[in-house]
Amino acid sequence: MDHFLYRDGQLMAEDVPVAQIAAQVGTPFYVYSSATLLRHFALFDDALSGIDHLVCFAMKSNSNQAVLKLLGDAGAGMDVVSGGEYMRAKAAGVSGDKIVFSGVGKTADEMRLALEGGVRQFNVESEPEMEVLSAVATSMGVEAPITVRVNPDVDAKTHEKISTGKKGDKFGIPIERASEVYARAAALPGLKVVGIDVHIGSQLTQLEPFELAYNKVRELTKQLRAEGHEIIRLDLGGGLGIPYAQASNEAPPLPTDYGAMVKRVFDGLDVEIEIEPGRLISGNAGLMVSKVIYVKDGGDREFLIIDGAMNDLIRPAMYGAYHDIIPVIEPAAGTEQTPYDIVGPVCESGDTFTKGRHMALLKADDLIAFRSAGAYGAVMSSEYNSRPLIPEVLVQGDQFAVIRPRPTFDEMINRDTIPEWL
Ligand SMILES: *Cc1c(COP(=O)(O)O)cnc(C)c1O
Repeated sequence: MDHFLYRDGQLMAEDVPVAQIAAQVGTPFYVYSSATLLRHFALFDDALSGIDHLVCFAMKSNSNQAVLKLLGDAGAGMDVVSGGEYMRAKAAGVSGDKIVFSGVGKTADEMRLALEGGVRQFNVESEPEMEVLSAVATSMGVEAPITVRVNPDVDAKTHEKISTGKKGDKFGIPIERASEVYARAAALPGLKVVGIDVHIGSQLTQLEPFELAYNKVRELTKQLRAEGHEIIRLDLGGGLGIPYAQASNEAPPLPTDYGAMVKRVFDGLDVEIEIEPGRLISGNAGLMVSKVIYVKDGGDREFLIIDGAMNDLIRPAMYGAYHDIIPVIEPAAGTEQTPYDIVGPVCESGDTFTKGRHMALLKADDLIAFRSAGAYGAVMSSEYNSRPLIPEVLVQGDQFAVIRPRPTFDEMINRDTIPEWL
């Protein structure tokens, strides 16, 4: 469910007409709904009510300061994967004890940063990383709380580029080696084992892979406790998928069902649960709005050339991802439809959002909106082809604000410097 609906023939972002934002901000732009973000966070939080838990927003999906502040104020922790994300979470007012540090390649500098500013735990992904963290913590005279990320070798049944919990993926340690690796952690100075971490992939559309992985984690918890480790916390990762196509019958499981499954699997284990959802909180909370520049006759097909491009929203080019694309002015019922190839202006054939998509007839200057663009949209954008980063807008009720302005050409150019010898 989201808050982007037609009202009186106009696509609205909560109570603001999307066309009004476009007129004020210019296109293309991202717009996020506060109500949808908060609703999705609350769904997870409620789904785990009654057990000790923390929902950590995976901020790699959307790391705008306003989004982080909104969710942080609502009680969310943050899952960060870099020093930059850690600093963003802190800048948005999230306290260190609610920040989980994930990622397969943490550097000593990043570890120091988090130990200085406070951190809930590091999710350690390898023995070399464990040794560096031990050295950093020892040199600072502190103890670093850790979990070890285990790879449970389950098939997440998702896109290969976002599957992370199968043998051969670069993430975590093989679950069979956990005993040995935890013993090593316990022997190293400066580390304090607090739990186990697992994250098997993104955009999962079934509960079964999660349940398979979580059952393995349950068994591992008992085993590690028997071996003398204090397992007080389980980090279950993120990865619950969202419906990208409204018309399709495929409905990924709801956070409610996911939460019920988690409670069932870990029932009686006396352990705190952390989850790290990203996409399911921010994905359907955002649109990318773009304008038609030209309608071009391509002989056997018609191209809609729009002012948004792969540098602004890379998911279709990178993963072949599908996004619903809808006109900002609602077509009258029964309006004629035609297939369009929808493309951006970037000089690559990969800059194609979709082919043969049936849409009501469109013309130059019409506005269209890409749905489900709130996760892995703005954060993955670039200035390829020297197209300035597009603005982000946050709506709350009948008010909206630009939460990241579009840089001017000068601002973009002046980030470069010319050496004095030139
Ligand atoms: C990407 C990632 C997440 C979030 O995944 P979503 O599919 O957006 O929910 C959570 N935890 C880790 C470690 C990740 O890498």
